[in-house]
Amino acid sequence: VIEIRDLHKSYGALEVLRGVSLLAPRGHVVSLIGSSGSGKSTLLRCCNLLEDSQQGEVVFEGEPVRWRGEGMARHPADRAQVTRIRTNLSMVFQQFNLWSHMTILQNVMEAPVTVLKRAPAEVEAKARGYLAKVGIGDKADCWPAQLSGGQQQRAAIARALCMEPRALLFDEPTSALDPELEQEVVKVIKALAEEGRTMLIVTHDMRLAADVSDHVVFLHKGLIEEEGPPDTLFGAPRSERLRQFLSATR
Ligand code: ATP
Ligand code: MG
Repeated sequence: VIEIRDLHKSYGALEVLRGVSLLAPRGHVVSLIGSSGSGKSTLLRCCNLLEDSQQGEVVFEGEPVRWRGEGMARHPADRAQVTRIRTNLSMVFQQFNLWSHMTILQNVMEAPVTVLKRAPAEVEAKARGYLAKVGIGDKADCWPAQLSGGQQQRAAIARALCMEPRALLFDEPTSALDPELEQEVVKVIKALAEEGRTMLIVTHDMRLAADVSDHVVFLHKGLIEEEGPPDTLFGAPRSERLRQFLSATR
């Protein structure tokens, strides 16, 4: 689906990504772990074209993404491509970002109706199905503020699913939640992994990464320090930095 090739990204003098390549094959779950500031969110934002890079490329379905303009006015050259990418890679953020003036059902229906121009009746049926799937079918007519954090995050996952994307991107989906609410969201993510969905998950939760991933990538200061299957990465880490990171998070 999406391929990152040798990506370099700086903010001024700060080099955040220093040549990162990544591929999330169809049906695979790839987890990104690493210390705070190692560039994990930046990498996801580059996947979703929320950020440009100075070198390297993002390739979507074999098509490299091109950018245009200078400085703050810099933007992807092809709007249709941006829509295709954002539609096919749905992102779930740490802060659930639900629209507070819309009910949960309206939140889930919004993008398929306005962006994809799907028929509202058909989208509503799907939206209710996805809400039921994440365990909050009874909350469709509530406002976001009436839901717990875990329920809001599950609503955000239902909203991402309702776009019927090829892949889901998660940026620390559980880190804003209390431990017991966190487990509700972990359960949903595990169920999605078992369905064989393509997912790229940035997480601080090593148990989640170990349980759901086909492949784990450890990012350190903008470079991939070590990557591999979870058993190897967590069970027999080769790099000293990864060993330190794991002992600090346990
Ligand atoms: P965390 O685990 O804390 O979420 P992260 O690995 O996701 O960390 P990033 O958010 O990718 O880290 O940030 C990497 C570095 O880039 C940090 O040093 C951050 O301060 C810097 N950075 C991120 N976004 C910007 C920005 N828009 N402008 C300037 N610097 C930025
Ligand atoms: Mg981050």
